[in-house]
Amino acid sequence: MGRSFEGTKNCQLPDGDKIEVLLYSRKTDLLLGQLTLLNTIIINKSLFERYSKTVQNYVLFHEYGHKKIHPLFSILLVLLLIPALLSLLAIVPTVLLLAHSILTSNLQQISALTFLLAGELIAIGLFMSACWLNELLAEFYAFKKLGLENVKQAWAEIKQKHLKQNFLSELFGKILIRLTHPPHWLTLKTYASVSKTKKA
Ligand SMILES: [Zn+2]
Repeated sequence: MGRSFEGTKNCQLPDGDKIEVLLYSRKTDLLLGQLTLLNTIIINKSLFERYSKTVQNYVLFHEYGHKKIHPLFSILLVLLLIPALLSLLAIVPTVLLLAHSILTSNLQQISALTFLLAGELIAIGLFMSACWLNELLAEFYAFKKLGLENVKQAWAEIKQKHLKQNFLSELFGKILIRLTHPPHWLTLKTYASVSKTKKA
């Protein structure tokens, strides 16, 4: 996917933990880091070339957070991924067929397609929920290690500096990110209510 790997790098986190990451370069850096299914942290080289130490630490802590919760979630995500992908592919034809059946008032087809559509939405919803939960936990880890204000600063810097590609790939990338990552406001809200519960 337009990615070329360029060796490894040893990183030290502010709390003393050491991690080894695999570096890659890619034209866009909408995604600065990722944990692969093989439990390897891969980092866009751009992180070390264009971003402040705060962003570097944020991304490393976030990915390291993923690694700490990895085994269970990766199995769950893989199990949910295939039905979700199939459903995503099938959703447009299902909606079109459903619209057609409604126009021709074919009741049997309408009920069958409604059932199918509901199943597709559930499959996508389950996959998204598992992804979002996984991301929330990684973000909470970064909050805990780096402090909320520093993470907010990192978010703002990434938003401002990230290398944009053409309109379509930017849009596609953002949709893909939203399917797999919750918006920041939701992350903050969830974190606030979790912290409140913990204190109470
Ligand atoms: Zn993540």
